[in-house]
Amino acid sequence: MSVLVVGSIALDTVETPYGNAEDSLGGSALYFSSAASLFCPVNVVGVVGSDFDASKISFLKKRGVNFDGLYVESGDTFRWGGRYHKNLNQRDTLFTYLNVFESFQPKIPAQYRNAEYVFLANIDPTLQLQVLDQIKKPKLVVLDTMNFWISGKRAMLDEVVKRCDILILNDEEARELSDEPNLITAIHKISSQGKPKTLIVKKGEHGAVLFHKNSFFFAPAYPLEKVIDPTGAGDSFAGGFLGYIAKSGNLRLSTLKKALIYGSAVASFNVEDFSFNRLKKLTMEELENRYQEFKALTRF
Ligand code: AMP
Repeated sequence: MSVLVVGSIALDTVETPYGNAEDSLGGSALYFSSAASLFCPVNVVGVVGSDFDASKISFLKKRGVNFDGLYVESGDTFRWGGRYHKNLNQRDTLFTYLNVFESFQPKIPAQYRNAEYVFLANIDPTLQLQVLDQIKKPKLVVLDTMNFWISGKRAMLDEVVKRCDILILNDEEARELSDEPNLITAIHKISSQGKPKTLIVKKGEHGAVLFHKNSFFFAPAYPLEKVIDPTGAGDSFAGGFLGYIAKSGNLRLSTLKKALIYGSAVASFNVEDFSFNRLKKLTMEELENRYQEFKALTRF
């Protein structure tokens, strides 16, 4: 079964304590696709400018990512710049140039409207709602967002949250959305406010938590010494997570738990190098090995 993703396609300029990358390929839709395509076909809807070099995404096409929903508009591609602190857990956004993204109205190609698995990557909630209005009967909608929309477009975001099945946040965002300092209380509060019944809270180098039908499941973070560039960790996590679910074709708790581990495993590879340098080379065999290492980390 395939997955539909709507999100950003970007040229990123990133500074980390280990070096810099300028105008390198990035964007939530591409990080997601790069991970999800290890499990199933992926359909992308997004926009680039006339300056975008299409050969940069040929590695994704070879992996079964379909770009029939990629719109090329006159103007520049979306650009984002970020600088990571020494601890790599925090980053400052240096610039966000929306460019062609500013007037983007996601039009879902007819052949994608029956999509069963949908990932709404972190974009304006108004656009996320437009996407949902065009999808006929999704089986599972996974939503990502960020502080910027929680504080800036709360009412609209609440509408999207009501229509999603799984909400993915980081710990800071969960606290902000619930107005609760305690993370566990924050999770209960968000979930008890109605949908979604399933929440994932990412805690960077401390792993991730799945909350489903009133029970918790914790995934550790892989003990990595080599973290070079965390950009796209959240999106590649979501790609591994939803890609595995789509491949399994069911929403059982045991599937969600394995998906959480696959998501964590892909993200751990992504941060080992800048841009897509690591994910480009990642094989299913390497991923399976790391999945087994994750199991060994927590089995007792
Ligand atoms: P992550 O590290 O998982 O949060 O994702 C980073 C990616 O998100 C980068 O490749 C950026 O190009 C992209 N990005 C950053 N800010 C935005 C934004 N406001 N809207 C859409 N995509 C963004």
